[in-house]
Amino acid sequence: MTFIEKWLRSDIKNINAYHVPESKNLLKLDAMESPFGVPSNLKEEFLEYIAKAEVNRYPDAASAQLKETLRVLMEIPGEFEMLLGNGSDELIQLLALACNEGDLIMSFEPSFVMYEMVSKYAHLRYQGIKLDSNFDINLSESIEAINSKKPKLIFIAYPNNPTGNAFDYDAIIEIIRTTDALVVLDEAYYAYSDRSFLSEISNFSNLVVLRTISKIGFAGLRLGLLIGSKETIAQLNKLRLPYNINILTQASANFLLQDKQGIVKNAEILTNERQRLFEELSFFSQLKVFPSQTNFLLVHCDDAQSLHSSLIENGILVKGFSLDSELSNFIRISVSEPIENNALLAAIKEYYG
Ligand SMILES: *Cc1c(COP(=O)(O)O)cnc(C)c1O
Repeated sequence: MTFIEKWLRSDIKNINAYHVPESKNLLKLDAMESPFGVPSNLKEEFLEYIAKAEVNRYPDAASAQLKETLRVLMEIPGEFEMLLGNGSDELIQLLALACNEGDLIMSFEPSFVMYEMVSKYAHLRYQGIKLDSNFDINLSESIEAINSKKPKLIFIAYPNNPTGNAFDYDAIIEIIRTTDALVVLDEAYYAYSDRSFLSEISNFSNLVVLRTISKIGFAGLRLGLLIGSKETIAQLNKLRLPYNINILTQASANFLLQDKQGIVKNAEILTNERQRLFEELSFFSQLKVFPSQTNFLLVHCDDAQSLHSSLIENGILVKGFSLDSELSNFIRISVSEPIENNALLAAIKEYYG
């Protein structure tokens, strides 16, 4: 045994590290990134703005100005408070840290893998509740599982990743109403979805809403936010590392997130492209495309592994799933701007001849 193997907490050796595939020189359609960078008409002003950041000083620990910018952008009511994270991943981890050792985290399956990963990091148990064949919540089974297992924390991605659909709203309300767990509604895709649970925070003391700016054009800035009642956020805030949002992220987000009109317009382009891609992909008899309220599409294929590697050979990276996954015969494709979507469609057309 090596030194580190002897030294390390034994369960960590069995954790598989989060895998990020090689994407050099590939058209990246695997991670729900936005194709739109800093708008060209704002570039110069943006650089002048971040040049003023005093990198020799610690950033504002409270990120006060940035919170106000986020409040306006996402229309967060004044009665709610925010907790900012270095990506929403950090906030998922922070929520796990707030649990007692051995507590249970529950979510649905298939859903966002980070929920299970952070439960392992934090010495918690994890259990997923299987979604039905349409990837929706089976309410009576779910309520029964939640009542018998008594989780401390329930993560619900709304809309869900990697399936793309938004679960039944009333089913979620019923779950929030019946459980003693803290329910985290992860709205990473809020900009592409019809509904939100934001306003429900005032109705349920066990509800918080998680959002991120990663899927609306700013994945590189690493900024997520947890929205909850003032009382809830004040307690959870004690677990946040003091300067977790660095000064360049604060300055950049402060500037770029003020362009609400541009952000909304980009989301609109992607929502329209989602509809077009859905229709065009549905023409292939070998593919079954699932309805989406996100900026990606989940697609069932006749042979997903083969299509996935053929697309890479043609310079396009989409998300594939491992052979032992229940989604092994699916691919997940980020919706991009027209020129990139057309490249994808052409490559698929060539593949099926
Ligand atoms: C992408 C994603 C996140 C992670 O967001 P970051 O802010 O980039 O860490 C969280 N939840 C879901 C459901 C996601 O799809």
